[in-house]
Amino acid sequence: MTQSNPRVAIVTGAARGIGAATAVRLAEDGFAVAVIDLDEKQCADTVAAIEGAGGRALAIGADVSDAAQVDAAVTRVAEQLGAPLVLVNNAGVLRDNLLFKMSEEDWDTVMNVHLRGSFLMSRAAQKYMTEAGWGRIVNLSSTSALGNRGQANYATAKAGLQGFTKTLAIELGKFGVTVNAIAPGFIATDMTRATAERVGVSFEDFTKAAIAAIPVGRAGKPEDIANTVSFFAGEQAGFVSGQVIYVAGGPKA
Ligand code: NAP
Repeated sequence: MTQSNPRVAIVTGAARGIGAATAVRLAEDGFAVAVIDLDEKQCADTVAAIEGAGGRALAIGADVSDAAQVDAAVTRVAEQLGAPLVLVNNAGVLRDNLLFKMSEEDWDTVMNVHLRGSFLMSRAAQKYMTEAGWGRIVNLSSTSALGNRGQANYATAKAGLQGFTKTLAIELGKFGVTVNAIAPGFIATDMTRATAERVGVSFEDFTKAAIAAIPVGRAGKPEDIANTVSFFAGEQAGFVSGQVIYVAGGPKA
């Protein structure tokens, strides 16, 4: 891989948080990066950070749960940056509620973005990876996959992504494509900030309470996850597939 002909990576939900840090990290690793998020304009800061450091990036607005938008986005990546050989399925939403208050819409929205979105993106991108005989897919699961109060929808989707990961690893391995999942614990982003707001606690207090249960004694940063994606995306991880790594400052969060 050279700067004049870099491999191409796609990161979804890359306008902010873990996705933005991952896009920047993969650009530092030498990838040209497609920065996909719902609104193309929201991708500007991530693209500017990559280009400012001498990398190559392309902003694309697409809803990962919409098949036509996904196919158009992945085709555009292939045409404008090159065949995508790394895919990070990071886009995510929360619609937390206790089961008796959870609407069908809360359930469907979470399933659509996390599960349908990862399925559609992976199906569209695998074509380029299998043709090249090399590829990397990294799915964002969560410690919530182990169960979390108020997150029946999210926990189910994040556990589902682990089964999805292992199955794609089995199907795509013979084409040189590895598929792994990262299950973050508490990471300080807009997502955890929104949860604090929803439960009526300041983000500072919410973070302090989370840290009290984290063995390494600090909150996670988006870069902690980006570093792990970087490992999975590299040559050195070619014999690691179908794995779920908990990046949570301890065995669980
Ligand atoms: P975040 O700050 O809320 O960022 C998520 C991004 O995904 C946003 O830019 C959002 O766009 C985008 N997005 C949402 N729906 C989309 C769709 N249908 N199509 C395309 N993009 C969409 O979240 P984060 O904390 O960085 O989390 C990133 C991933 O890590 C998620 O999958 C999350 O579930 C997982 N995770 C996070 C934590 C944590 O503690 N933060 C822990 C475990 C797992 P908008 O801004 O337009 O909505």
